[in-house]
Amino acid sequence: MGKKYEFWFVVGSQFLYGPEVLETVAGRAQQMAEEMSKQLPYPLVYKVTAKTNQEIKDIVKEANYDDRCAGVVTWCHTFSPSKMWIDGLVKLQKPYCHFATQYNREIPNEEIDMDFMNLNQAAHGDREHGFIGARLRLPRKVIAGFWQDAPVLAQLADWMKAAVGVLFSRDLKVMRFGDNMREVAVTEGDKVEVQTKLGWQVNTWPVGTLVEYMDAVTEEEIDALMAVYKEAYTFATDDMETVRYQAREEIAMKKMLDAEGCKAFSNTFQDLYGMRQLPGLASQHLMAQGYGYGGEGDWKVAAMTAIMKSMGENGNGASAFMEDYTYHLVEGQEYSLGAHMLEVSPSVAADRPRIEVHPLGIGDREDPARLVFEGKAGKAIVVSLVDMGGRLRLICQDIECVKPIMDMPNLPVARVMWRAMPDLTTGLQCWIMAGGAHHTVLSYDVSAEQMRDWARMMKIEFVHITKDTVPEKLEEELFLKDLAWKLNI
Ligand code: MN
Repeated sequence: MGKKYEFWFVVGSQFLYGPEVLETVAGRAQQMAEEMSKQLPYPLVYKVTAKTNQEIKDIVKEANYDDRCAGVVTWCHTFSPSKMWIDGLVKLQKPYCHFATQYNREIPNEEIDMDFMNLNQAAHGDREHGFIGARLRLPRKVIAGFWQDAPVLAQLADWMKAAVGVLFSRDLKVMRFGDNMREVAVTEGDKVEVQTKLGWQVNTWPVGTLVEYMDAVTEEEIDALMAVYKEAYTFATDDMETVRYQAREEIAMKKMLDAEGCKAFSNTFQDLYGMRQLPGLASQHLMAQGYGYGGEGDWKVAAMTAIMKSMGENGNGASAFMEDYTYHLVEGQEYSLGAHMLEVSPSVAADRPRIEVHPLGIGDREDPARLVFEGKAGKAIVVSLVDMGGRLRLICQDIECVKPIMDMPNLPVARVMWRAMPDLTTGLQCWIMAGGAHHTVLSYDVSAEQMRDWARMMKIEFVHITKDTVPEKLEEELFLKDLAWKLNI
């Protein structure tokens, strides 16, 4: 679902050193961009050695209006007086990374003289550049280190994916089938605020229109999708009619989503008028294709699922709509069991998912087909976006997923089991203090650092619960951040 993005490498300098130095800078910057691009998920394209206010303003204007450009990476090979950057930087609307690096790894003992020093002075060039970013309070990422080193390139790669998440967010349309589940608070939110801050266009379509689309789906279309299901999943049911009904629902929802350019959707079991089954497999297979989903009308988690998928591997990563369901509170085995009544994305499955048909206690409809599987083991995060009234807070918690410690043969849904940081109960205490929802996006391939980057670029609050989080300190942090965000600077 991803577009073809690139990032622009803009190198700061000035006229002081003469044309030869500028030529060398340009040549090296070109070489560095080409070499780094081989290790990065998106091309880094050298654009200009900027020496004047006008050049910087021009490249920023171009970056803002070029849809391929997902962000700007700056670096100062030489000194570049930063007052000439002000005009451009205040106009920059794309994600911005200051990459503090140096062309040469070593100080060459014999070769070094004043000419060498004038050419290779990123050490103070980048400090001048860094000051103006700080003074302008720009939401920038700072990465420091040698440009050939793998950990440095990994930071740049991660930031690029977070920046793509920013662009994806600004373009995102969310389709709501019906309203939120009645009386629920945390799935509510200010859609105008969200569109202003995050770019999401969140709108509602009637379930009746979806039913019309479902009625128009042909048997041939269903046959074709059944073949796709057979390729990807194991059929653990003989009830083909029920599975075919899910295929009908999926085809109809996909047509509506694609017609409107929506990459996320929500629905609710309280509004299924004219539908025989709550979409289970249908929603799950749409998530496998990169669409975001939220149950009970939770359009915020639907959008976040789509965004975090877009930030993951190949633009459709291992991220899933999730819900903390129940705990195992045995000493030494404290785990949270996450699932949903149907809709867990198979992109987090440890093994090939099975299609099963079971009754559903709520919603008052026929038994729906759904994918059942265990989630993978490994380090992951859970993320929740909440509306604090007048502003948004993004809460992220580090977790360690394990192979579920029991089979749970009678549990008819996909399940993931994990230990929250710093431990289950302290982590729970912190999550509740921060106001985190029961719905989350669980991700194995988007990191907390990337979500911090994303929140910074979106200019919203970020709260991170880690192995080192102490509830008393978190309480103070939340109090102080609340004050700071009310200043609205
Ligand atoms: Mn739910």
